[in-house]
Amino acid sequence: MSKFWSKLLKQTDPYIPGEQPKTTKVIKLNTNENPYPPSPKVLDAIKQATDESLRLYPSPTADDLRETVASYYGLKDNQIFIGNGSDEVLAFSFMAFFNPGEKILFPDISYSFYPVYAKLFQIDYELVELTGDFTIPVEQFFNAKGGVIFPNPNAPTGVLLSLNDVELILQNNKEKVVIIDEAYIDFGGESAVQLVDQYDNLLVIQTLSKSRSLAGMRVGLAVGNENLITGLNHIKNSVNSYTLDRLALVAAKASFEDEVYFKEVCETIIQEREKAASTLRALGFHVLQSQANFLFASHPKVDAEFLYEQLKERNIFIRFFKKPKIDQYVRITVGNRADMQEFFDVLKEIV
Ligand code: PMP
Repeated sequence: MSKFWSKLLKQTDPYIPGEQPKTTKVIKLNTNENPYPPSPKVLDAIKQATDESLRLYPSPTADDLRETVASYYGLKDNQIFIGNGSDEVLAFSFMAFFNPGEKILFPDISYSFYPVYAKLFQIDYELVELTGDFTIPVEQFFNAKGGVIFPNPNAPTGVLLSLNDVELILQNNKEKVVIIDEAYIDFGGESAVQLVDQYDNLLVIQTLSKSRSLAGMRVGLAVGNENLITGLNHIKNSVNSYTLDRLALVAAKASFEDEVYFKEVCETIIQEREKAASTLRALGFHVLQSQANFLFASHPKVDAEFLYEQLKERNIFIRFFKKPKIDQYVRITVGNRADMQEFFDVLKEIV
């Protein structure tokens, strides 16, 4: 590797993806995947598209999919950007909108890829501590020097910020780009997409990995003012022409065309989340109010890492977080009925 890059990468501490067990014979509640399959219409669309046309490059600008997403949200095609997972869209956004020497703000704790990108692209950042109840302190995000980024709902806490509060942050950062990472918005939040025509400094980033069961297809998107989308296209075209394959593009399009299935899956996960939260509370856990497809919880008497290890021994994967500011927490993805039943059967033997 070149000296320049090896020196830079030494300073970045790369993001470490969640554990991906080699066998499917585990209960996987550690990376916030959807326990339900993609819509049957999505699977059909993939089968249909699996033909000789795979010899051809895909649309470099994802035209069909952008059109579908634009009409889904009542916007114009040039307000939509499609990327290879929202991680790619986030990386491009850091490059397009944030400058070295101008401090950007994001919460602590939050998505652990943000500091990685900031360091890689040499963008100064300041961590804004969450309040005692893990909400994002809105006023501390006013007048950022370089811009703002945060997930809504936040990850790994699941705590949602109201659209009114999101608007306050936008109004108090008129000259800077505010990025709302809505990876988990479909599990109970109100999307800021409806504000993009009103605020030209707003970029909303979403993913099809969670609520649309397509983590394996790698599709993410950004919605915003057309100037912001032009910025993203500039970066993308300087890195790679064809970021999404043909099958991912048709799968994503079919997903946006099956609203009934999408709503049903989200609703089922929300109900399962609420049930799981009450069961955890009954077992003595402190559980944050989550509007995502995961729960962030701690037990006064049981160590989070110990819990993680005990569950892993029994082939159940969760995540644990230990940091001075947050003490120690586990994050549990909401699985399907059977997974949650087994999870709780095992958990009751541990706590
Ligand atoms: N944002 C947040 C807050 C996430 O938790 C994740 C999933 N790790 C992503 C973005 C990236 O998701 P993907 O690249 O699968 O779209």
